[in-house]
Amino acid sequence: MFPFKRWSGSRLAPAARVELRRSQYRAFLQQVPLLYAVLIVNTATVAITHLRVAPVYLSVYAPVLLCLFCVVRVVMWLRSRRRVLSDDALARRLRTMVWMAAGMGTAFTAWALSLYPYGDAYARSHVAFYMAMTVIGCIFCLMHMRVAALLLTCIVIVPFTLFFGSTHNPVLVAIAVNVLLVAVVMVMILLIYYRDFTTLVESQIQLRTKQTETQRLSDENFRLANLDALTGLPNRRRFFADLDGHLAPLQGYARAPGSLAIGIIDLDGFKRINDLYGHAFGDRVLEETGRRFAAQITPQVSVARIGGDEFGLMVVGATAYRQLLDLGDALTAVIERPYVLPEGAARMSASIGFANFPEAGETTLQLVERAYYALHFAQAHRRGGVVIFSPEHETQIRHLSKIEESLRRADFEREISLHFQPIFDTALREIMAFEALARWTSPTLGVVAPSMFIPVAERCDLIHALTEVLLRKALDTARSWPETVRISFNLSARDLTSAGALDRVIRTTLASGVAPHRIDFEITETALIQDFGQARTALDALKKLGARISLDDFGTGFSSLNSVHRLPIDKVKVDGSFVAGIEREATARAIVKSIVDLCQNLGLTCVIEGVETRAQMTALRELGATVMQGHLFGKPVAANLVLDTYVREPLLPWL
Ligand code: C2E
Ligand code: CA
Ligand code: CA
Repeated sequence: MFPFKRWSGSRLAPAARVELRRSQYRAFLQQVPLLYAVLIVNTATVAITHLRVAPVYLSVYAPVLLCLFCVVRVVMWLRSRRRVLSDDALARRLRTMVWMAAGMGTAFTAWALSLYPYGDAYARSHVAFYMAMTVIGCIFCLMHMRVAALLLTCIVIVPFTLFFGSTHNPVLVAIAVNVLLVAVVMVMILLIYYRDFTTLVESQIQLRTKQTETQRLSDENFRLANLDALTGLPNRRRFFADLDGHLAPLQGYARAPGSLAIGIIDLDGFKRINDLYGHAFGDRVLEETGRRFAAQITPQVSVARIGGDEFGLMVVGATAYRQLLDLGDALTAVIERPYVLPEGAARMSASIGFANFPEAGETTLQLVERAYYALHFAQAHRRGGVVIFSPEHETQIRHLSKIEESLRRADFEREISLHFQPIFDTALREIMAFEALARWTSPTLGVVAPSMFIPVAERCDLIHALTEVLLRKALDTARSWPETVRISFNLSARDLTSAGALDRVIRTTLASGVAPHRIDFEITETALIQDFGQARTALDALKKLGARISLDDFGTGFSSLNSVHRLPIDKVKVDGSFVAGIEREATARAIVKSIVDLCQNLGLTCVIEGVETRAQMTALRELGATVMQGHLFGKPVAANLVLDTYVREPLLPWL
């Protein structure tokens, strides 16, 4: 008659079924006191009306036992009604309740039917009335527990109808028929009610599931929009949003010094790895870097990937200089560990620039700019280092912006000149070449060192124009020198990575009248790191011209055997920093020795820079070095003094 299955809840998902059971149980618990009240009161009244007519065990002991059992159940209910049940415990309890309903139904029915033969017609009718009314009351109370209610109906109504239907008493037979009809109607009502109840609970569950799902999708969407897909770290957008979020309450009146710092991390050598081994390998390296950084994250420190090989750090709380330096050291150490991946192995280092709130700036933009400044400072002065933006940097920034301003207005032809410093072959006892070194006398700032203005010119795109003027002047000067003396000219990394600039270098060289084979172009490793492919093309073009290539400042950064080997290089210039302690420091000696040997193996000329004393020269010669440059052999001099100072009087007094 009823599509029973539809309401059974069995088509629900397991979780929803548990939820449905819980709702049923909750609803039933509220009916428990009523259920037992009906049972106890009705049983007691029947027992009392049979007190004198029925045997004691039926009129006293049995009802007292049954009622006591009901009282015990009520006490148990009082104790456990607030207890939160596990899913399994709930299922067990519901099963117990079904058995309980069946057991109690049987016990009460058996007792009532045993009582029937005693007493007069009224007492007998009372028993029938008691059974009919009590079972109807109980079925109502069990409305939410369908199985228990149906079972109880069967257990009581079937024997009731059979028993009274077979009494041959027309009144009792009529009662049996009436009660059976009422029971059928009640079962129908019960099933309809149960269906509505299930549907209601079900729709609530669905609504809740949908809300949870919507929330989950929206959370997931937010997470993905703020995550870097490669490393799984927060991305640039998230980094800046978090920074704004943390900064907002600190700004203005209630500035809390030392409460926030940001850091920018740049991987030194990553671009080269990418160029040499390919992007897929580069991606693996970045993933591994992300994992290494993620392991360093604490409640105070968060790391995000904000660019190709750039990571952003936000430090909340512990931002004293010492703490930042320690954190920076820990992070750089993590990167310096070798990368051993299935595709190959690589090594990198990292530079970190920190900017502290509010000392270095009060807005996100200021802090980020200053952190970058500190980072560039770290990269320029010591790779794999940590620098915190300080008041000195502030002064420097102001100074640099003054330099930039003057450089933009400078008349290169008039203000910029060249000095020349000899490069000496100590074995042949003669000058091999002169290195051209830029000199700028600004009408507003006076003499500005090239180490100051060259980087500024590179940053504000004046370097190409500057290189062109300098190269023309250098070659003009070199034209008057003996054919055997070479000229060494410094090219900026930027000159190599721009095709237009390289064209101008080649055209200026060809127009100079100096044979290209007399020219050495000095390049630093920065150019190689930035774009290995492009640098290679540029070097090949210069080589094709007939010029030679020197790798400058060797040993200070990343130039490795690998890059020397793979590039068309003729000379290696060992940085002066190794020379200062050459007589005392075994490490410096070992490094220089290994470079000298390497050059010998590869057939390269090795030039040692910054040689200032005879002792240094002797020590270097013992290591096998012959070609040197430095104040010992001569300081840089103006163009017009080169011939007089060095070429016409080649006999140097100290030799
Ligand atoms: P660099 O190419 O390594 O040049 C050598 C620097 O060491 C020069 O400094 C030189 O004067 C200095 N030096 C030479 N011998 C000694 C010595 O015995 N002791 C000490 N302490 N220093 C010595 P300078 O002229 O100040 O140039 C600094 C840097 O500026 C150069 O380093 C180079 O990187 C850059 N630079 C100079 N001229 C040019 C140029 O025309 N173009 C480009 N792109 N860069 C240039
Ligand atoms: Ca140089
Ligand atoms: Ca150098």
